Amino acid sequence: MKEIIAPLSKMLSSGEISSVELTEKYISAIEQENKRYNAYVSLTFDKARQQAQTADKMIAEGNATLLTGIPMTLKDNICSDGDLTTCCSKILKGFRPYYDSTVWSKLKAQGAVMLGKTNMDEFAMGSTSETSCYGAPLNPRNVNHVTGGSSGGVAAAVAGNIAAYGLGSDTGGSVRQPASFCGIVGLKPTYGAISRYGLIAYGSSLDQIGVLANSVKDTAVVFDAISGVDANDQTSVDFNFGNIADTLGQTDVKGLKIGIAKEYFDGINEEMKSAILDAVKLFEANGAEIIDISLPVLKQALPVYYIIACAEASSNLGRYDGIRYGYRAESFNDVEEMILKTRTEGFGDEVKRRIMLGTYVLSSGYYDAYYKKACLLRENLISDFEEIFDKCDILIAPTAPNTAFPLNFKGASPVDMYLSDIATVPINITGVPAISVPVKNDSNGLPIGMQIIGKKFSEGAILNAAYFYEKTAEDKVGNVSGGVNL
Ligand code: GLN
Repeated sequence: MKEIIAPLSKMLSSGEISSVELTEKYISAIEQENKRYNAYVSLTFDKARQQAQTADKMIAEGNATLLTGIPMTLKDNICSDGDLTTCCSKILKGFRPYYDSTVWSKLKAQGAVMLGKTNMDEFAMGSTSETSCYGAPLNPRNVNHVTGGSSGGVAAAVAGNIAAYGLGSDTGGSVRQPASFCGIVGLKPTYGAISRYGLIAYGSSLDQIGVLANSVKDTAVVFDAISGVDANDQTSVDFNFGNIADTLGQTDVKGLKIGIAKEYFDGINEEMKSAILDAVKLFEANGAEIIDISLPVLKQALPVYYIIACAEASSNLGRYDGIRYGYRAESFNDVEEMILKTRTEGFGDEVKRRIMLGTYVLSSGYYDAYYKKACLLRENLISDFEEIFDKCDILIAPTAPNTAFPLNFKGASPVDMYLSDIATVPINITGVPAISVPVKNDSNGLPIGMQIIGKKFSEGAILNAAYFYEKTAEDKVGNVSGGVNL
């Protein structure tokens, strides 16, 4: 894995390249590679050029940070003023928000350059990005395979070197799983660590903005820049993380207690299991203590997630009625028919399935049996995770039970696809942070991701553990050629 942000920043500050020149390199690379990857769904090149000029001024005036002048991308569900933001759904086609998300305004203030919005599953519902109304993005490691989802376009752009880093959202794995499929790093922070203001809602008690990047250090630099409390998001938390990027490498793993939950390895193939357990051995060889634990409650995570996520989605997506946003059906006789036709024509099948599921579990007569029960089980999961973190500092697990599927592979069965989220959803249900780092390629040359999980607000600990692994292990995944490779 290669660190990109600090080396690029050094080139910018030494004058070896200007941000305007660097941005042109990324623009040409996108023009060349996006035909192959379908990573970007809208481009903001004119604005990016202006942002690059502003960045060059900041550098000249000595006001630069590590992110000043570095080109990046936002998932198509993160708002930026005046730029298309469509959640890759027909119902939001043409929608341009009139305000910046907090994450983008923080990055913009540091002189970031945004190249465009990237592909995703419609409304972030999916695990392959194939439910996008723009067609699926393709995996730069092998274009016959999916990128994972739902932040698949960000993962493809970062892995394919057509964005230096990107921001995605993770409701049940959508940052970590595509990072794992594309062989890059993906961080899902603690719920509330990063403002969600300007992130289009899917499941509000689960949604979190996260970082996709080429290295752990890059990930930490971006996390440091965007974390923090925000008056516009009442679920954001005032926690002082300090400057995590600067602390990387300062602590070793001696005495670090690593929990291995056997349930996390049930049902995953031997090749993936041994890749991750081999990675764990490296920690052990350097003085970490391995603790075998049992987390039977993990089995309940998937139904709990799909009930809560769909319930919240059915409520959040009620606002797309043809009146306030985006698409409206062309012909109708009255308001009711307009709303019905708009939603029927505007939403794709997976989104409709979830709205129906969510409406069902919230409806009178079923609420207690499904939604309320799921909320109670969520409490069990939270307390079981808390107990685990009394015994261990971090947990190590696979990020997903599989590597990237071939294209169209899971299209036939929604439930099979839901099952593939088994390793990531417990993290959102319990609100803790987790990071996916690439370990090695499987026998088909597709990356395997390892998930490092910590207790709430332990981003420093999980990034440090991931950094230790990245620095100590042999790089068995490498980088994709093509794109901007400086
Ligand atoms: N695959 C999960 C789902 O479809 C997670 C998606 C996400 O994190 N946005 O709900």
